[in-house]
Amino acid sequence: MGNMSWYKNSYRRCLVDMHIEDWNEEFLSEFDPQSYLDCMKRGNIKSAMIYLQSHVGLCNWPSKSGRVHKAFEKENKVKELIGLCRAEGLDAVGYYSLIFNNWAYEAHPEWRVVDPLGANSREPDSMFGFQKRYGIVCPNNMEYRAFLTEQFTELFGTYDIDGIFLDMAFWPTICICDSCRARYRKDTGRDFPRLAAVDFNDPDCVRLQLCREAWMSEFAHFAADECRRICPGIPVEHNNALLTISWIYACNGGAALASDFTGGDQYGGQYEQSVICKLMYEITNNQPFEYMTSRCPKLINEHTTTKSAQLMKLQNYITLAHHGAMLYIDAIDPLGTMHPGIYDRIGEAFRQSEPFEKYLSGKMVADVAVYFDMKSKFRNLPQDPDISSQDPGHLSTYPQLDALNEGSRALVAGNYQYTVIPDIRKEKILGKKAVIVTEASMLSDDEITFLADYVEKGGNIYISGNVNPGLAQKLLSLEFLGWTDWKSSYIAPTEAGQQYFGDMYTAKHPLSYTKSQMLVHNPAHHQVLATVTLPYTNPMDPVKFASIHSNPPGIATEYPAVVYGRYGKGRVLWSAGAFESTAARPQKDVFLNLFGLVYGGGSFLKSTAPECVQFTLFDDFEHSRLLLHAVNVQELEPFFRAGSFSVTLETDKPVSRVRILPGLEDLPFTFESGALSFEVKDMDLFVMIEVGY
Ligand SMILES: [Zn+2]
Repeated sequence: MGNMSWYKNSYRRCLVDMHIEDWNEEFLSEFDPQSYLDCMKRGNIKSAMIYLQSHVGLCNWPSKSGRVHKAFEKENKVKELIGLCRAEGLDAVGYYSLIFNNWAYEAHPEWRVVDPLGANSREPDSMFGFQKRYGIVCPNNMEYRAFLTEQFTELFGTYDIDGIFLDMAFWPTICICDSCRARYRKDTGRDFPRLAAVDFNDPDCVRLQLCREAWMSEFAHFAADECRRICPGIPVEHNNALLTISWIYACNGGAALASDFTGGDQYGGQYEQSVICKLMYEITNNQPFEYMTSRCPKLINEHTTTKSAQLMKLQNYITLAHHGAMLYIDAIDPLGTMHPGIYDRIGEAFRQSEPFEKYLSGKMVADVAVYFDMKSKFRNLPQDPDISSQDPGHLSTYPQLDALNEGSRALVAGNYQYTVIPDIRKEKILGKKAVIVTEASMLSDDEITFLADYVEKGGNIYISGNVNPGLAQKLLSLEFLGWTDWKSSYIAPTEAGQQYFGDMYTAKHPLSYTKSQMLVHNPAHHQVLATVTLPYTNPMDPVKFASIHSNPPGIATEYPAVVYGRYGKGRVLWSAGAFESTAARPQKDVFLNLFGLVYGGGSFLKSTAPECVQFTLFDDFEHSRLLLHAVNVQELEPFFRAGSFSVTLETDKPVSRVRILPGLEDLPFTFESGALSFEVKDMDLFVMIEVGY
């Protein structure tokens, strides 16, 4: 029996991808458990995630329900590897691929996912947003589920492991197979919708989407519960990489709820990593969450190219600054060998972070919540239902995600201590000073009631863009009229609003916004800080224009663009467009000014550090200390040193000392009227400071 709470003290993890075929007898012929273990030790790795099976579907144990990989037919080398890891004090976690299973796809064509064109995933004309290498079977097929139970029974009977990782619990496409059709009929009492085009103005499409989310969530619980039934107490982790990915994958957080802790492989930049870490921190059932990323610059599809030591260290520190566990993903050579140099590089990063691990305690302190509504991962609903394509490029982003990423950048610039709270954890908003709700078109009536209650009792809220109009109706009595037809518009400050727009943007030269704005009526006469201005001509007109390169403002309107008011004890700011989603700085500056109005002043943390330095703060009541992390989050290598800077932290704690971790050197500080100030000298990528109280 493994150590069932291994993950609570494991911050250095590694997965070696092993999706290797066996049509060539050389494949995995040189797989050597001792060499594998040696690499883990070079990498200073605490927990090794090991392939028990893969997307190829072949089993690395003597299976009766499936087919065994030829390289492991004679000897169970994977079992030997697990034994070696455990003997050396490493945790051994098994990897198993759900629904992506080429062997099952070939052996059981009746289990296959069927796309809306009637194609299976490996057929040349299929709509699947993957290469045609992946055979995908349907989680609604009960024979496939019975097969999973057999597989789990076999593998837990074979291996003594500390945990299991279940990959791929998401929908790569809409499935119209017989099992899905039957389940839809059973669940809704209706016929499966005809899908000439996916249009979420059509209630049938919405109904199907809700089913897809519920089915995948139920499947994630089924798979996790089967593992726990067969191997009581085993920690189960689903891959939660797709929490923020578009609607097509139908991830509503159910897989996170089914997991003992949340992890997932991510390939965005460093800014995005800091956003995702906050989301995973909030959604996970138990800490630490797990941030997985490849040692290749992009997934593992380059196979040989490896990230620089500096980038690996930075990614590791970003995760550490959120008290998360870091998992690096390597990919084995087809022969079964690994490059030891890669593990030296991982080891360099992990040896630097290891001394900080004993200080990763306490709870994150963030007084701003960015609300992430996992039901609203669409493009521009309802005014712009351009969602007929399943092409993953088309679906790679959507307004709420842009708002999350770009709005977060602005909050970092303002040194606000923010976190990202998903809809399924909405109660975590309570106690926050301000919440930001942006582009959440599918916000439910329950959520509107919940948010209104939060504001009534003194919470403050910033609402922008395509949020369910019921929220602004409830809080400010704004009546929804529709949208500007023109997808280029302007936000023109009124006299009352001018102070938030600076000198550059005025009623005559208003702030540009390259999307539609919501049109509302303001019968309660709340304060209007800006109005909607339109260009002289409709930008969609291909011929008629005022100025040949641009769409200058020309038509001022009375429609409010920014409205400020009170609801109960709280402040409410509503914006007709989520202009903070714009990547450029001017819109972010205006956003920060307006957010300051609703927040009520500036952040409790101030610093002269370069803007790329992000701070995270934890309160460790048990040890009477605050833990402040500063991490130098840059995108372009080489990363310049952050240098020296000052920090001022307003706190109600009776501060007694300040020390730099992990060496515990005392740091000179002043503490007057609840404001703690100190200097950080010549920071490179990361600093962790303990504030004793
Ligand atoms: Zn299906």
